[in-house]
Amino acid sequence: MSKEPSTLLDVSASCACGDVTMAILGTVGSMFMCACLHCQQATGTGHSTVALVSEQRLTVSGTTARFSRPSASGASFTRHFCATCGTPLYGQSSRAPAVRLVAAGFFAGNNQWFEPNQLIFARTQQDWDAIDDHLPRHETYRPAP
Ligand SMILES: [Zn+2]
Ligand SMILES: [Zn+2]
Repeated sequence: MSKEPSTLLDVSASCACGDVTMAILGTVGSMFMCACLHCQQATGTGHSTVALVSEQRLTVSGTTARFSRPSASGASFTRHFCATCGTPLYGQSSRAPAVRLVAAGFFAGNNQWFEPNQLIFARTQQDWDAIDDHLPRHETYRPAP
């Protein structure tokens, strides 16, 4: 991860109903998009937009709900969302419990900083979901360095 670009952020936003507030303060690591079938279903679109943030840099307040299911890697993947309005907040893998996979769309109107550096699970990306051809693509997960 050390060669990944890092972006310094100080952003905060609220979910659609206003009950949950989430803030990122500090550096963000890898940013990517994932077109796996779980992300398509969870977002209702063709891919998720994710920024990796360590748990110390993310503050969440309000009442959240969660749902866990096994991911392709065999890890348990938990998606957190607002318990009232369902706005997606972040995901978390049992393989890296201190890392939050924050949904960039949560900061709608204030997420110009989002700069994806790869598409993962390109094998299930759909033609109708146009994604920059210049973005590096991985059939499934990014290969280990
Ligand atoms: Zn809400
Ligand atoms: Zn995915």
